[in-house]
Amino acid sequence: MEILSKILEARDNRAALREQISKKGNISVSLSLNIAGYPKSDTITEAFFITIINEFERTLLANLITINKSECTIITDADGNFYIAPVSSNTDSKIVKQVCEKFEETHKAGRIIDADVTTSANKSESSGKAKHCIVCKTNAAVDCMRNRNHSIEEVREAAWLLMTDHIKTDKEQKLTNSISSFALKSIIYEISLTPKPGLVDFNDDGIHTDMNYYTFVNSTSIIIPYLNRLALLGTKHIDTSHTDILTEIREIGIEAEKDMFIETSGVNTQKGVIFLLGLAVYASSHIINRYGYFDIRMVSELISSICCDMVKTEMTNNTDSQTHGQKCYNKYGNKFGGARAEAESGLKTAIDYGYSILDNSGFNILKSSNRSEMNKLFTSTLLNIMANNNDSNILYRSDIKTLEEFKTIASDTLNAINNGVNINEAMNSINSFCSKNRISAGGAADLLSVSIFLYLCKLQYSKIS
Ligand SMILES: [Zn+2]
Repeated sequence: MEILSKILEARDNRAALREQISKKGNISVSLSLNIAGYPKSDTITEAFFITIINEFERTLLANLITINKSECTIITDADGNFYIAPVSSNTDSKIVKQVCEKFEETHKAGRIIDADVTTSANKSESSGKAKHCIVCKTNAAVDCMRNRNHSIEEVREAAWLLMTDHIKTDKEQKLTNSISSFALKSIIYEISLTPKPGLVDFNDDGIHTDMNYYTFVNSTSIIIPYLNRLALLGTKHIDTSHTDILTEIREIGIEAEKDMFIETSGVNTQKGVIFLLGLAVYASSHIINRYGYFDIRMVSELISSICCDMVKTEMTNNTDSQTHGQKCYNKYGNKFGGARAEAESGLKTAIDYGYSILDNSGFNILKSSNRSEMNKLFTSTLLNIMANNNDSNILYRSDIKTLEEFKTIASDTLNAINNGVNINEAMNSINSFCSKNRISAGGAADLLSVSIFLYLCKLQYSKIS
């Protein structure tokens, strides 16, 4: 009885809020959840209700119905979660009701959402449309209720299932969007970084004759939807074995590569990035979604286990279409396994020589757009990767001696920049070394993108201790 009187009191309070708004001559819109039994709210309903409010406000705005946010009220009481706001646009209450009805009808969890409209004369703008029962999904909800077709427990279970599913989907979509934006940023940061010895940058094409800055912009725009799919895939898998995941990741990667080659008329701009960043995107998304935070060690271990034995299994096959990495591995051995070895190691080079430089800098690239600081940080990171990576792009076009010389020059260039030498001036000798030997450290550029991506994830999703 006490509960019932509390619920009635809550309903009176809601009626008073509606009346207040109509007294000012305004229409009001309100949201509540159709929850059977008691209690009518908990942490799930709270989380669900917040996502619903955001979606509802977006729908109103998209229909040119504006609300006065400063006079909006959100409460949780004995009758559950409640939201009410005055409509500030001059919209007919019947039109507002139609929008609310459509919102309920088209929403996946619409059967437990009540979006109501009260006119400026304090009358409920009712629709008279019956909602389907949440349990059997066929009968009208009122009929099932009247005939007691289902127990309260059954009805509540169905409602909580709808809510948790919606919260989960919403969370996965938000994470996917955020991870994809980091992937895009990390690629654009890398291709825009100028100067880059031997590589395509904003000002020149390095040693390349078949690609330029715009070729990279074009192929980036083509591969991003696939990285988005990998981010989403990362949120979906829970129990699948790692081998199955690799096959699924590969299928998306193969499609991305195919489209990249169509876009660039056969030029390989980003095969390495599709593979390594693709794995980083999948693994980061999976770890953040599963544990609620980003952990570089966990991401590394996941990639390593997904790509377990990849070098042994895939590098020794003698097909005609071997990659640069495969050819180098067959010629020079274990230390030169290219992107596959990097993947199998759990992105060790990217993490140890790229990500760690960014992380140690403490520079918040999420919050900054300072051109000279970011340029200097990314240049140092790239040079440090170059100084330590056995780049199969270089090895394929030259030999071990040239690769080692390149690594030493990269290290010297980094030292010069750290000692205050101007970046353009410091780059002179490494630039001419690349031109003279016709080499380009494409692998290092890929690892820079991967490093930036991982650092962005760390900045956004670190565990709050
Ligand atoms: Zn039913």
